Amino acid sequence: MRYISTRGQAPPVSFLDAVLAGMAPDGGLYVPERWPHGLDSDEARADIGQREHFEVAANILHAFAGDELTIKKAYALALKAYSLNAGAFDSRVVTPLVQLGGGHWVLELFHGPSLSFKDIAMQLIGPLYDHALAARDRRLTVVCATSGDTGGAAVEALKGRERADLFVLTPRGRVSEVQRRFMTTSGASNIYALEVDGDFDACQAIVKTLFADQDFSARASLSGVNSINWARIVAQSAYFYATACLLSGPGKVNFIVPTGNFGDAYSGWVAKQLGAPIGKIALATNANDILDRALLNGSYERATQSLATLSPAMDIQVASNFERIVFEVVGRDSGATSNLYDQFAREGSFDIPADARAALAEHFYAASVSDESTIEEIGFRWGEGYLACPHTAVGLHAPQEEFAFEEEFHAPIVYLATAHPAKFPDTVERATGVRPQLPAKCADLFQRSEKFDSLPADAEAVKQYIRERSRAWS
Ligand SMILES: *Cc1c(COP(=O)(O)O)cnc(C)c1O
Repeated sequence: MRYISTRGQAPPVSFLDAVLAGMAPDGGLYVPERWPHGLDSDEARADIGQREHFEVAANILHAFAGDELTIKKAYALALKAYSLNAGAFDSRVVTPLVQLGGGHWVLELFHGPSLSFKDIAMQLIGPLYDHALAARDRRLTVVCATSGDTGGAAVEALKGRERADLFVLTPRGRVSEVQRRFMTTSGASNIYALEVDGDFDACQAIVKTLFADQDFSARASLSGVNSINWARIVAQSAYFYATACLLSGPGKVNFIVPTGNFGDAYSGWVAKQLGAPIGKIALATNANDILDRALLNGSYERATQSLATLSPAMDIQVASNFERIVFEVVGRDSGATSNLYDQFAREGSFDIPADARAALAEHFYAASVSDESTIEEIGFRWGEGYLACPHTAVGLHAPQEEFAFEEEFHAPIVYLATAHPAKFPDTVERATGVRPQLPAKCADLFQRSEKFDSLPADAEAVKQYIRERSRAWS
């Protein structure tokens, strides 16, 4: 299976090369040259709906990797990530479904080591990197910008790995203490947590600058595990696929996805391309509502800055993965995609062409939820016996905002629960009066000692820091 860039100016690469690179060298994102078949028959769907998570993930991984990963190898990697023996997830059911009421379900994605949905993809990336780097006899410098949860999940996935060093850039003061501690307490010598004097977009801009510096990028053997990494999309599409297969009756299954960088929601669309019986995918944003505005009035327009909200993992103004769906809805035209994103770089906005807009509306809804409603929703759900984190609550509340719910959204509806409530204890306590407890596996998080460095929001300073420390530097 070959991967092409959405901007069309980079040569096609294999699955493992796309995964190791993160971003394409022309500034675009890798997408598969065509969508794999084999998972779209009634038989495959019925079968996969009955399987363990690692089996579903392995099937999908193999479908996207093609010859580069045999089904046997894909199974071995998925077992390392998801089996009970591997120890990363609490239960055999990696992503448990909880029924809220008739036709309404919560898909809990936060039972991994750092308590957010990011673990599901990241736990697979760890073994996948080991495999790819050993096969190529390479070392890697992994950099990632995180508004919170990616960092902890990446640390858990890469700590102690022989061939990879991880540098995590996080905006100072914009992540919760629990989030920060997952990044700073690993004790591993190949992990560097960096607090940057700026917001998430500043961190993301620095990472982009590092990748754009071809000399630096080559010498550091730079790679990204941010939500644009293709392996993350593949790993995330597995729970959409399995859940849709499991719950679909005569109708299709709808998902409501708390959204920031559009990685998770796009993974749902990918599962749909694989043949999963998925209806609509609703994007639930907080006050950082670029995607809500884009779907509502057809203009993808960056705000002047990202707002700090109670759901910080979604405090994002530029939804990186949106480029992948733009590429699809303009008919996989890389020239058109490049033009739109060149304009975005120059002017901070572009208009989505009319037919592309119509194509988007076939798959997606969007709504934006205020902090006030988020708090209310957490309190309301707790009254009914369900404790939700603020991000999950944004999704739970979204139908009350502006979806055309009654006509369009038939049950079943699956709400994705993206973080454990104990990751955001202050907000949850404020909403419910109850202080959520960390699960036993990380109950000592506040006793562990922290290690991090502070840097200015300056790409040169970050480059120097990495140059001095990366084992991959040559
Ligand atoms: C990352 C994150 C999101 C947003 O996911 P995207 O793939 O960036 O849209 C939502 N909730 C939580 C808890 C997260 O960590």
